[in-house]
Amino acid sequence: MGNQDLVQRAQTVLFQNYRTQPIAIVRGEGSYVWDADGKRYLDFIGGIATVSVGHANPRVREALLEQSKLLWHASNLYVTEPQVRLAEKLTAASRTLKRAFFCNSGTEANEAMIKLARHYHVVNGAPDRIEILCFHNSFHGRTMGSLAATGQPKYQEGFGPLPAGFRFLDYGDAAQLEKNIGPQTCAVLLEPLQGEAGVLLPPPGYLKRVRELCTRHGALMILDEVQTGMGRTGRLFAHQHEGVEPDAMSLAKGIAGGVPLGALLAREDVAKVFTPGTHASTFGGNPLATAAASAVMDLLQGGLLDQVQRAGGRLSQRLAALSRKTPRAAGERGLGLLRALLLSEDLAPKVVAKARDLGLLVNAIGERVVRLAPPLTATEAEIDQATDLLLGSVTQA
Ligand SMILES: *Cc1c(COP(=O)(O)O)cnc(C)c1O
Repeated sequence: MGNQDLVQRAQTVLFQNYRTQPIAIVRGEGSYVWDADGKRYLDFIGGIATVSVGHANPRVREALLEQSKLLWHASNLYVTEPQVRLAEKLTAASRTLKRAFFCNSGTEANEAMIKLARHYHVVNGAPDRIEILCFHNSFHGRTMGSLAATGQPKYQEGFGPLPAGFRFLDYGDAAQLEKNIGPQTCAVLLEPLQGEAGVLLPPPGYLKRVRELCTRHGALMILDEVQTGMGRTGRLFAHQHEGVEPDAMSLAKGIAGGVPLGALLAREDVAKVFTPGTHASTFGGNPLATAAASAVMDLLQGGLLDQVQRAGGRLSQRLAALSRKTPRAAGERGLGLLRALLLSEDLAPKVVAKARDLGLLVNAIGERVVRLAPPLTATEAEIDQATDLLLGSVTQA
């Protein structure tokens, strides 16, 4: 069964809610994938930042195989060892977030985080503190709560009524936040850098100001690290670059190397408001998924984070250099191995299609941004090869 047949079958039976590209991926190894016609691609989008340690990583595969012989699922009616082991590793890696809750995706982790923030104030005698301050151009997911917090009207329109109590401010503007935060503020919900908005970084010191304002006004600082966490930016969590400590944080995407898993970490005194019955997930903390994530954590803490910083620096330089080779490239931005190539013309979807022809997978955000989120294990040679292919794609698009 080749690409054409599979694409046609997909178009016949699947919801047509994605702008799916016309190839079927059948196999992956390291930074490469193969399509159903046997063509090989350098994968620099990595399942949208999920394939964190490369396709079919031997250590993760081994963890999955071993766990598959023991236990696949038991639910949270019982304790399962891989879930506890992963929670120990994640909480040991944070100075202040000492409790973990598991779910299955980014949006679910954010739903849990929003509910946790609301409930925290109810339990602490301030049930009127319901307002969650969010930001324009943010992305937090597609379920109703996360969608209500997502500052992109195009995703919200036509799905009302959305949950109330979410208000939007300009990302990176600390003075505006200072004017709007107050005794009604439940939490400030933000990404350490806005991934889906086009890999946008806030000004230096912004996260620190958010932290100070939240502390001063008794609001929770809740961070969406679904895309930026788990080593993507060169630190285990992106907020660690700024030396701030949030009150809670959501994780997903790269956490289990491509196996579906979401997590919410929170401070002890915040987590404790989720008493038995308040929140739950049947699949949450599934033994297979958490065993995979444990192996990913071991790899990240076994030297991979340093490698991400070096690789990110190289990718940044190589992307910046494209502007000297073609007027269509207009610079780059990002952190670690989450980066964007900026274009000077509305060509991003065409560049992505051309790159695919040339054997490189990347992703367009709007018309002028090409996003790259390669496996954190990508080598320097692969980075050089990818940027060479990207130059070809930009000039030929
Ligand atoms: C991808 C993403 C989500 C949603 O994650 P899903 O697993 O698709 O639900 C939420 N927040 C951020 C910052 C993301 O990048």
